[in-house]
Amino acid sequence: MSLYLDWDPPRPGWVCAECGFDYDATAPAAVGELLGGLVREYHARLLADVELLRAHPDPPTWSALEYACHVRDCLALYDWRIRKVLSERSPRLPQMRRDAVVVERAYNAAEPAAVAVEMADNRARLAALLGEVSGADWHRVGVREGEEVSVTWMAINTLHEAHHHLMDVDRALDRSGPSGPHAHGRTAS
Ligand SMILES: [Zn+2]
Repeated sequence: MSLYLDWDPPRPGWVCAECGFDYDATAPAAVGELLGGLVREYHARLLADVELLRAHPDPPTWSALEYACHVRDCLALYDWRIRKVLSERSPRLPQMRRDAVVVERAYNAAEPAAVAVEMADNRARLAALLGEVSGADWHRVGVREGEEVSVTWMAINTLHEAHHHLMDVDRALDRSGPSGPHAHGRTAS
């Protein structure tokens, strides 16, 4: 089952009905720093008990660790895509195959501490890249699934992915944990 069957893609004027993310309130130049705050939130969750992190609340729903791995890989994917768009003329961008890579890359067998480090590294690389983007480069485009996507859109979309899936991580931990919603080290550090 795809998590994205009913995916409503971010776009100007859009507010996510689930996580409240506001597209228009997000400056693409601020995305790198905002991602840093979210990655710290993931790090706090990744300190939870590994069995809890790997638990599936119900069979089609990803575990907290699978969501974290997905976000880690989104950060790397969009770093790669944005570099490609900045260096080529309207390149084609291959699909992520979100649901296939969960199995292929054995997300649920990953070590949470390693995921935290990789997520931080990927975020730092993407933030450095976005820090170099200016002027018309924000409007450069690549072609994904037949549609043009700009650097601005890719930056904001990546931030939404991280924002939205943090909510999914908390839901997975809350639903899998025996001790209620505040038992998993929710404080940011
Ligand atoms: Zn959302």
